[in-house]
Amino acid sequence: MTQVMHRMNVESGCNERPILKERGQREVFCGLTGIVWLHRKLQDAFFLVVGSRTCAHLIQSAAGVMIFSEPRFATAILQDRDLAGMADCNEELDRVVNELLERRPDISTLFLVGSCPSEVIKLDLATAAERLSLEQKSRVRVLSYSGSGIETTFTQGEDNCLKAMVPELKPLPDNERSLLVVGTLADVVEDQFQRLFNDLGIDKVQFFPPRRATELPSIGKGTKVLLAQPFLGETARALVARGASLLSAPFPFGVEGTSQWFRAAADAWNINNDRVDSVLAMPAARAERALARYREKLAGKRITFLPDSQLEIPLARFLNRECGMQLCEVGMPHLDKTLLSAELELLPEDVLLSEGQHVEKQLDRVRADKPDMTVCGLGLANPLEAEGFTTKWSIELVFTPVHGFEQAADLAELFARPIGRRSRLAV
Ligand code: SF4
Repeated sequence: MTQVMHRMNVESGCNERPILKERGQREVFCGLTGIVWLHRKLQDAFFLVVGSRTCAHLIQSAAGVMIFSEPRFATAILQDRDLAGMADCNEELDRVVNELLERRPDISTLFLVGSCPSEVIKLDLATAAERLSLEQKSRVRVLSYSGSGIETTFTQGEDNCLKAMVPELKPLPDNERSLLVVGTLADVVEDQFQRLFNDLGIDKVQFFPPRRATELPSIGKGTKVLLAQPFLGETARALVARGASLLSAPFPFGVEGTSQWFRAAADAWNINNDRVDSVLAMPAARAERALARYREKLAGKRITFLPDSQLEIPLARFLNRECGMQLCEVGMPHLDKTLLSAELELLPEDVLLSEGQHVEKQLDRVRADKPDMTVCGLGLANPLEAEGFTTKWSIELVFTPVHGFEQAADLAELFARPIGRRSRLAV
């Protein structure tokens, strides 16, 4: 089913299924983590975290050891005097930014990224970004967004970053139409998608974020937004507010999700079914063949998702419908029913869906269910492994290219590998 959502508050009847809502202690990473994949995509942008030493350590360890001659992220560390309100942080920030931009003429866009410490002392990074942009006289665009860990999940960093760029998008002329694919994709995946859109006959396709921050897409009434990631609700709302309409589709994970995702775009362009079938048939068949060997390993295995990445529902749908896995519980930090309505329709009726987290209660359910695999954040993986559970880090699913037909088998392998390792250890 393809449906165009002109207003973000459209909801479908399938959303009425029961959902366990929990609140309590949570174990999640903060939005700064998004810098790791965003800085790889936006090759002329720089991310300056305004935070503490903890933030600097998080970014360094999440990014691993970056062997760049010129890295594209850094942390401006707030000192005790700043935190105590004894120093003018703005002056210091201006100095750091000016030094950086003088030294790095390759930077076209600078993101000031807020953190828990900068938010606690109410450092106004939006105003600082405006001031610095003016000073740069449009040589460098300075934007700001929050990556703080206060009430967020780690993928919200990308949502906040993309939303910060929406006001910068140029208007699309009223007589033009375009397809806007939204969500960070590995370049190799973006190229594959572009080829398939070309074969379908969709001529103007733009990707957001683009590879260069200076090449932002345009937006207007003729823009149809196709989300590639399920955690971009705020960005989607901002794009709709600029006149775009949102296509409803499952996300492009696995053969089924990818096929339906392309079909949603093809329907919006009134491309006839025969052409769509013939374009998608070969890559879909190839992906199904590649998937078959992992289906053998995964079929019948039971899996629980703990809330972490917001990718939980699309991945659960893929593992259940294409790999034959049984779903015990699918937990997500936040359920955006508007974005996920097409996914929810594809989930089995009897799976426990939960939203939010009370970590102790949820771990009790894991212990009672005894799934063959638990997908969770880094903080819970080691304790669960120590109790004998097989785990998968959900963050890996955001770092690895897993979208599209060609990556469907790689996605299944990410789950099959730990299960295979556990069974070898058990022999
Ligand atoms: S932003 Fe907050 S949660 Fe994230 S590393 Fe900094 S202090 Fe920790």
